[in-house]
This record gives sequence, C-alpha cells and structure tokens, in this order.
Amino acid sequence: MQGYCESLDQIANLEFKRAGTRQGGTALRYRAARAAQGDEALCGRVARALGEALAPGGGSVVLVTGTGNPAWLPHGETDGPSGVAVLARTFGALGLRSCVLAEDIYADAVGRSLLAAGAPLLDEAGWSERGNAALLLGYPAGAAAGHAFAESFFDRHADARAVIFVEKPGPNARGVFHNSSGKPKDPDLVAHAQLLAAAARRRGIVTVGVGDGGNEIGFGRAAAALGAHAPYGSGCGCPCGGGILDATEVDHLLPASVSNWGAYAIAAALCLHAGRHDAMPGWREVEASIAAPIAAGAYDGYTGLALPSVDGVSPEANRAVYSLMLEVLRMARTQA
Ligand SMILES: [Zn+2]
Repeated sequence: MQGYCESLDQIANLEFKRAGTRQGGTALRYRAARAAQGDEALCGRVARALGEALAPGGGSVVLVTGTGNPAWLPHGETDGPSGVAVLARTFGALGLRSCVLAEDIYADAVGRSLLAAGAPLLDEAGWSERGNAALLLGYPAGAAAGHAFAESFFDRHADARAVIFVEKPGPNARGVFHNSSGKPKDPDLVAHAQLLAAAARRRGIVTVGVGDGGNEIGFGRAAAALGAHAPYGSGCGCPCGGGILDATEVDHLLPASVSNWGAYAIAAALCLHAGRHDAMPGWREVEASIAAPIAAGAYDGYTGLALPSVDGVSPEANRAVYSLMLEVLRMARTQA
C-alpha cells in the first residue's frame, strides 16, 4: 500500500502554475509537510488514521470547505467543492455519512457539487437514518458566531469521528486570514473554522487539512518548517506582517498542487486501505462536481472565469490527474 500511496501523493502534487512567483511552491510545501510527519506518504498516513477512527462502528465524517472573496468570487470557486463531493461519495460507498460545512454564501455551490457527484443530500432526520448520505449545514461567518458554533457542534453531532478541511482558509499566528497572494481577508466575512479544529482536537476527534497555498487550515502542522521558504510565508505585504501561513494545529496535513486533488488522493488511499478499489466515483460524476458550482455563481479561483477549470488548470488536465489516480487503484486491484 505504501508504494501506491507514494504515487497518489506525487500525482496530487503535479504542479501547473502560470505565474513564476508561484512556481516551485508546491514541492516546498509538500516536502515540509512530509518532513514534519514522519517522512511517509501523506495520503496513506491520513487514510490509516481515518480507518482507525472510523473502524469501531462507523459514525460520521465532517467535511469543511468554502473560500472566495466578496469582489471577484462572491459565491466561491471551483476548488474545494469537488474534493469534498468525491470524499462524500467515497465515504458513502464505505457506509459512512458526511456532514458538510460551508458559509451560507458558498453553500449552494457546495450542495450542487455534492449532488452532481451523486451524493444524496438529506435533511438531518433522513440523513441520520442513512449510511451513505450527506448533510449540508451553514458555518456562520465571524469570530463570535464561529466560536459558539464550534463549541456546541460536537454536542449536537456526537457521532462525528473525523473532520477534514479542504481548501479552507485559516488564520496565521497573529489571527489574520489571507488569500494565497498575501491579501488579508475581512474576519467578519469568513468562517472561523479553525475553532472547530481546536474543539475536535480537545475531544480526540481526528483532524485533517488539505490545502494548496499555505493559507489553508492544516498548514499549522508544517508552518515551522515552511516559515521563510514558502511564497508569502514570512511577509504577506499586509499590515499584520505575519505571513500567510495558517497556524491551525491539526493531526494530519496533505498539501497538494490543487486542493481538490489532495482530497481525491485521500479518497483513493481510503479505497486502498479498505480494499475497495472500485469505491471512487467515475470521471463523469467528478467532472459534473467541478462544473456544478458555476451554476451557483462560483468561478475558477485563478482565472476568475465561469469555466470548469480549477486553479487555472484545464478540465482535460483534471481528468488526466483523476485518471492517473484510478490507474493506481487498478494496479492495486489486479496485483493479486
Ligand atoms: Zn498579513
């Protein structure tokens, strides 16, 4: 399994960045994260931890996503929702419910992605009776509301066994949120989902971060090693001066070239871990899950276009990446 997970990590970290200032950052972030976590394939590490957390009788998995900005990406972007949707489908195939959290302004886009991938969205009563369904809840924006939400969440969802953050902005060590190019975000407009990570850790619930810029929840796991090396790592250019690196502590971090790809890699590693090599959705559903948020006003986060590219990477390349991951599963299936 280790060798297959090495392949999945590498596929998720194939870098396609147009701007020279961004080139090379993917490898830096991956190497730092790997060095901070026992120098093993990171998607395999995550799948093992999730497998252990979920083995005693199921429960639910919490998936958190949603990012954008009020001016150009008012309803979010194409990176994040599809990753969550593929994870929800894969967990569903393994008999596990997903509870998906996003700010209200992104929730429609995320919900459309889940449905397009084939994940059934139910209300809470129906969801709790089904082993493969998804529940979509709003995560309130702002620090005070986020605090109240996070403090009571696991009382209301006592069956939660793990929390996975996909492309979810987190604050730096000075408490300031940034986008990946160093601009600060208004703290009253973002979900303070880092508080949910802290609440989960206090209860011994496994926490996982997937990100592609360094500013997403999870990079606190590798911030010390990344520091001055990462793009905007030590200086963001905004008055806080603290750099963009998220400071949220999580149990496991998987950096990727595109956050969706990191989520796909974790889904594939879960399939390997469970011996269920056919449990990931097919490309047609994944393709639909990338495109569906556009109908709710989401755009490609890099180009700003209302097209089903992700971080500037074409649909054809996304298909190639996903196909390579399915090829790893095919190898594993036919090995015996
Ligand atoms: Zn700053």
